[in-house]
Amino acid sequence: MLAPEKRPDLPVSLTAAILRGAKGQCPRCGEARLFRAYLKPVDHCPACHQDWTHQRADDFPPYISIFLTGHLMAPLIIYFGAESPLPMWLALTICLVAAAVMMLAFLQPAKGGTVALQWWHGMHGFVPSGHDEARGPASPAAKGPWQR
Ligand SMILES: [Zn+2]
Repeated sequence: MLAPEKRPDLPVSLTAAILRGAKGQCPRCGEARLFRAYLKPVDHCPACHQDWTHQRADDFPPYISIFLTGHLMAPLIIYFGAESPLPMWLALTICLVAAAVMMLAFLQPAKGGTVALQWWHGMHGFVPSGHDEARGPASPAAKGPWQR
């Protein structure tokens, strides 16, 4: 394992890894795309050869997407319900279309961030080597109980 200063391609923090994943980049190296299709991650990163087949995002990305959409749509729905001069059918159409577009737009970034989170913490079979490489040699106190 190389020291962190000799591995500038690795993310320095969980936040950096999640941001790479949310942008659709490989969370480990940031050099290649994480997705081969809308919600299908590549099996292996072509740049750093990280194995992404261990990801198990399941329902968490839709949960994030629905949570964000709901909170961003709430003011618009309240406005349309309380004081909008628009007819109800038009307000409802605008809200439904905006909600659908927002949910679909948030879904891939949410999945990329979730995959990065799982990789960083070594979940679901990910070898936490990238995590360890990014942090460098950790002191025994810095390791979780599962790593001792
Ligand atoms: Zn990579």
